[in-house]
Amino acid sequence: MCGIIGYIGDKRPEKILIEGLKKLEYRGYDSAGIALFNNEVQIIKSLGKISNLEDKINNTDLIDSNIGIAHTRWATHGEPSEVNAHPHRIGHITLVHNGIIENAKELKEDLQEKGVKFNTNTDTEVIAGLIDYYYKGNTKEAIEKAIKDLKGSYALAIINDEEDKLYAVRCESPLILGIGDNEYFVTSDIGAILPYTNKYVLLGKDEIVTLTKNDYVIEKDDIKVYREVEESTLTLEDTSLNGYDHYMMKEINEEPVLVDNLVKKYINNLDKLPDLSKYKNIHIVGCGSAYYAGMIGKNLFEDDGIKVECDVASEYRYRNIVYDKDTLVILISQSGETADTIAAMRKANGDQVDTLAIVNVESSTIERECTYSVLIEAGKEIAVATTKAFILQVLILSLLSYKINQDDKYIEDIKKLPQQLKVLLDKTGYYKKLADSIYKHEDVFFIGRKIDYAISMEGSLKLKEVSYIHSDSYQAGELKHGTISLVKEGTIVFAIVTDDEIRDKTISNLEEVISRGAKPIYVGNVDVDYEDKIVIPRVHKKLQPILAVPPLQMIAYFVALKRGCDIDKPKNLAKSVTVE
Ligand code: GLU
Repeated sequence: MCGIIGYIGDKRPEKILIEGLKKLEYRGYDSAGIALFNNEVQIIKSLGKISNLEDKINNTDLIDSNIGIAHTRWATHGEPSEVNAHPHRIGHITLVHNGIIENAKELKEDLQEKGVKFNTNTDTEVIAGLIDYYYKGNTKEAIEKAIKDLKGSYALAIINDEEDKLYAVRCESPLILGIGDNEYFVTSDIGAILPYTNKYVLLGKDEIVTLTKNDYVIEKDDIKVYREVEESTLTLEDTSLNGYDHYMMKEINEEPVLVDNLVKKYINNLDKLPDLSKYKNIHIVGCGSAYYAGMIGKNLFEDDGIKVECDVASEYRYRNIVYDKDTLVILISQSGETADTIAAMRKANGDQVDTLAIVNVESSTIERECTYSVLIEAGKEIAVATTKAFILQVLILSLLSYKINQDDKYIEDIKKLPQQLKVLLDKTGYYKKLADSIYKHEDVFFIGRKIDYAISMEGSLKLKEVSYIHSDSYQAGELKHGTISLVKEGTIVFAIVTDDEIRDKTISNLEEVISRGAKPIYVGNVDVDYEDKIVIPRVHKKLQPILAVPPLQMIAYFVALKRGCDIDKPKNLAKSVTVE
């Protein structure tokens, strides 16, 4: 994953690069580094968050330069460490990289035989070695030769210590060229350079851009490429915490207003949403929470009488799928840049079936390349664990389902949602109390059937990703086929029970674990006689998950808080997963 930013212009780059990296930190944050260039190359790296790098830079005598590259890393090859942090340098070449080089091992062995020495076990350093090996006075030519040898994905920003230039090239991983006044940028995300410019150029696969202070040239295989300069309509986002201690809590609390906005936008304008009734088959594809939103969608569309499959993108992309006529593939991704989901989309597009993007980021790859797209309009989601974006993904799926089979009760209920959500979110004292009883446990289980199983998957993921408590979710009827052997005196089992059709079955399963010592936490829309319970309002079936999930998000938050976890940036994760 990782974020890249590069600068060339009249200014000193260090502040621009650090501020840019902070905007890219959602892409990975196990280490970070910058390289500045003015006749000599100065590299500064540090383990952990960008703030560590910033502290180090503030305590270093920096060279006076106008060219620099920087990187925030999510390690794929080589553990997170200062030495493995980017930029990497071999010979004349210093570079930063987003992606994975699949044949790095072979290339490295080959280069070692030719006498190239390596200092790290990253795949990235191999690229620096390769370009330097091919460099015989013409950097662009060396890059061109090197990328022909690479297998995998890469976005690269490159400096050669013999030239006042910056080079960049990409394949699969994102990279755009930003056009300022007498200054240029390369970056993984326009958000990193918006304080300076909103003009940008999209770079195609293996197009090499050579930047000087005053000009840029894009070339592919020695032929100049002309690409249109586009203007982003994105504005600098409000990233303040507004008095909250964490973005996760701020973002959960934005749910009522954001739900209200989307409901108002679509409920009387259903023609603005695609019509799914014309499809006989729907495939829903996503990763992580987006996949669980998809599982909720599967239940909704099946109730509408459509054949639905739901799969995680990293599996779907490699499956041999014989598409039936009249199939729609729905791709769900907060960022619109999730690598596996992009690959799944391209597979479907390549097979000429219609695709529908449900994403948050306008002009993202998935939004641009799908046949249809619907934006969830969540605003910037900064906490790595998704909350508001998940709820809005589910809301869009619910509206799409309502468009297929419309009934008055839905209209009545959807208008009440924002207020009901607000009331549910205000019960923080109760969520804290439950968190107090959970935070010392090392195993927690969630059970539910059908749509409630999908809800329990999301509840379980939220808890484990932010609190590091092992948590698993099971179809309620499945638990007794093995996992129930882990239930002991005091084991916490959340039961999600919102679907009237299978309520009694799930309650029976809950009783089975209670008989074996489990301590139940009931989340349902009928009041019951359990000590620990979250009773949510009864609403139209297609809307029920929108009220069931936020209390689980709250509980995950308070458990993580009690355990002293880094709530907004859980370890090992990244917000946007741009490697496969
Ligand atoms: N594969 C490279 C590494 O592990 C880059 C990973 C990234 O995109 O952050 O260093």
